[in-house]
Amino acid sequence: MTDSKKDYQKILASVQKPVKGEAGKTGTWSNFKPIIDLEKCIPAKSGKATCFNCWLYCPEAVVTRTIPPKIDLDYCKGCGICMEECPVNAITMEEVKTE
Ligand code: SF4
Ligand code: SF4
Repeated sequence: MTDSKKDYQKILASVQKPVKGEAGKTGTWSNFKPIIDLEKCIPAKSGKATCFNCWLYCPEAVVTRTIPPKIDLDYCKGCGICMEECPVNAITMEEVKTE
């Protein structure tokens, strides 16, 4: 194996994918939770596996790449990135009320 190929493999090995739950159950301290409007969500409406920006951009890897996409609120930190990246504004952030 050439040195440049070894270097490339080392770089690849150092790249981390987000893992659900890495930071604990962040859903317990978030102030907002995302809600998906299935009437607007492209895969939910079309039944086709398209879009999935919410899955792609979620830094906590808590959105499924399914029809419809589902969010595991136990681990969602409420950052709103999914809402920002949804091309059809199907996601809204709802305030979590605490008594
Ligand atoms: S980004 Fe929006 S339209 Fe795309 S899959 Fe997620 S909720 Fe649906
Ligand atoms: S609010 Fe943030 S952590 Fe929660 S599903 Fe959306 S992108 Fe992921």
